This record gives sequence, C-alpha cells and structure tokens, in this order.
Amino acid sequence: MIFLDAAATTPVRREVLEAMWPYLSGEFGNPSSHHSLGEAAANALAGARAAVAGVLGCRPGEITFTSGGTEADNLAVKGIALSRRAKDPSLDRVLLSSIEHPAVEESALYLQRVHGFTIDVVPVDHTGLVTPEAFRAALQPGTAVASIMYANNEVGTVQPVAELAAIAAESGVPFHTDAVQAAGWLPVRVQDLGVDALSLSGHKLGAPKGSGVLFAKSRLRLEPLVHGGGQERGRRSGTENVAGAVALATALTLANGEQADTVGRVVELRDGFIRRVLDRVPGAMLTGHPEQRLPSIASFCFPGTSGESVLLELERLGVLCSSGSACAAGSDAPSPVLTALGIPAEVAQTAVRFSFNSAITAAELEEAATAVESAVLAVRGLSRS
Ligand code: PLP
Repeated sequence: MIFLDAAATTPVRREVLEAMWPYLSGEFGNPSSHHSLGEAAANALAGARAAVAGVLGCRPGEITFTSGGTEADNLAVKGIALSRRAKDPSLDRVLLSSIEHPAVEESALYLQRVHGFTIDVVPVDHTGLVTPEAFRAALQPGTAVASIMYANNEVGTVQPVAELAAIAAESGVPFHTDAVQAAGWLPVRVQDLGVDALSLSGHKLGAPKGSGVLFAKSRLRLEPLVHGGGQERGRRSGTENVAGAVALATALTLANGEQADTVGRVVELRDGFIRRVLDRVPGAMLTGHPEQRLPSIASFCFPGTSGESVLLELERLGVLCSSGSACAAGSDAPSPVLTALGIPAEVAQTAVRFSFNSAITAAELEEAATAVESAVLAVRGLSRS
C-alpha cells in the first residue's frame, strides 16, 4: 500500500515511541504526586514544555498541553472570546475565514448559539487565500478574537499569517492560528508570525493521536473549558498526559530539525506528482493555491467522477488517500472548503486529496500517478456505461 493520507494522520515515529515509553511503564507517576515517581513525571512534563517552547520561540509557561488539535482550537477560540467579553461586554464578535477546520468553525458557532456572539467570516479567493485586504475589511470593532488557519487541511493553501496577525494587532485583536497542518513544514516561531495563540496536534507529526498544544501569550486570559484540579496553570485541568506531551515534544523537535532538509525535496516531488496527474488525467484540476501551498498536499478535482468512487478504485490499486478531510469522510455533501473557493458543488464532489509525510519517495509518487490515471478512467468508464 502507498499511504498518501498523512494529512489525516501519521504513524508514530520509532524515536517518539522510545521517548514516551518510560512514562507509560517504569516512570508512570502522576506529575502532581509529591514523591520521586511524581517528580520524575513532573520533570518530564517540564522538559516537554520547554522543548515545545524552544521550537515555537516562546516561554514554557505559554504552552498548554491538550488532548489534540481540536481541543487546542476550542480553548483558543472560546477561551479568548469568553474571557475578553467577561471583561468588556462590547467584545462580542469572532472573526474567522470561510475555510476553517470544524474545530474552529464549530467553536465559533457554539459562541454564537449559546453566548450570543456574532460571527464575521472572511471570504477566501479561488485559491483559498485570505487576502490582507479582505481580512482588514472583515475586521469589525468589537472583535474578541480572530482565528485564521495557517495552512488548509483539504487544499493545502498557506495563509499570509504574519501579515494578517499584524493587521489584527493594529486593532488590538488577539490573533489565533490553527497550525495543525503547517507544523513540521513551515516556520512556527510565534514571534516571527506575530500570533497571540497557535494550535498544534501530535498525530500529524509522528506522535500518537490525543496529544496537542495550545500556545497562548501569557498576558492573554483564557476562560478554561475543562475545570478541575487546576493543572496547566488552571488553563486545562486533568491529570496530564505525560507520555503524550513527551511524544509531541519529541516529534515536533525532530520535524523542526529536519525541515530544512526535507521541504525542498518534498516540494519537488509534490510538483512532479501534480504535473503528472494534470498531464495524464484529462480534465483534472488542481485545487488550492498553485504555489502558496503545503509541501505535503496535492489536491484535485476530477470532473465526471465521484471522489468517493475514485478513492475506492485507488485503494483497489494500492493507494490510500482521501476525498477531502478525514472529518468529512463518508459524507456525500460537497466539501464546504471547496465550495468556499467557488468550486461548483458537482465538481467539489469529485475531490481527491493526496498528502505525504517526509518519507515519501519519487517511485511511490510515480506509481501513484499511474494509479490515479487508471482509477479516474475506470470511474469515468463506469459512469458512462
Ligand atoms: N485543525 C486542522 C487544520 C486539522 O487538519 C485537524 C485534524 O485533522 C485538526 C485541527 C484537529 O486535530 P486533532 O485531530 O488532533 O483533534
């Protein structure tokens, strides 16, 4: 099988398993316990926090470990909006793009439904880009938080986050970015990006599912979503997932260290794959931005097919990929991300996403391109007959 679904998840790296194993076995202490086993766990957690802070270029106290990207996004959007409005009732708006992950979008909808917030949505252009002009135009007085993803999980478009964050800062609006897909591929130093909050997820980087991080500036107040023993400086109660935190920190550190060597190679492979698919499959269209896109994502529409049928045919041919995001898999509805790019619903339903990790090879992508050609022709043949 050729695995081209790394944007859905990645296998746990051996180095990560080795780093986390002690905290699942001999060093199994609770970081809050006042004995040597507890202290060892607390030290491991502090080490993981310092390592993540080192990669992001922030203070360790600005790192909150969460159960994943979804929780980090929820804590950022709800936590910032609710705490700011509690201090100033006029701050009752949230701003997002039209292609946010459901973890951000549904958090905003919750704020609207339960707490009466107003949602402002910045449209994207046909490549999935939020332009600085569109962002500025959508930014209203009374905005409690703005959340614009760093890189999109379906089409790979990378947003000009630093420019957008600078615009938000001019108005004193805290800016959050969902960097779940970007981490490992793009620079994530928070001061260079100028963001106030940033979400990460371990399982996209070679750590297990169920580990995540929210960076939030220490001066930013966050209304907690999970109440209890006051762990994570009260921002997120619950006994800490020490092994998960160590795993995420190890995976992030490894990916960050390898970035300079891997990005150029993967971009070249991705572009070769895109060229082959566009050359060989009549009518194939690339979705997302042609250049400002993640090294790891090649996404297409194949008009005259159904994405789900192409996916099944590809699996039969030994290629695993996705018809959109893993969250929307199995749903017949056209992807809201693709329709936000102005792609008609009947074309959006023909979407297939290929996503790689850094171990991808030229031979695998060559074989995959041949499989794509056969799969699309087979599906079109079937739908004609
Ligand atoms: N944000 C983006 C952009 C994602 O792609 C994902 C996962 O697919 C998430 C958030 C959610 O992360 P997790 O699966 O760790 O909850």
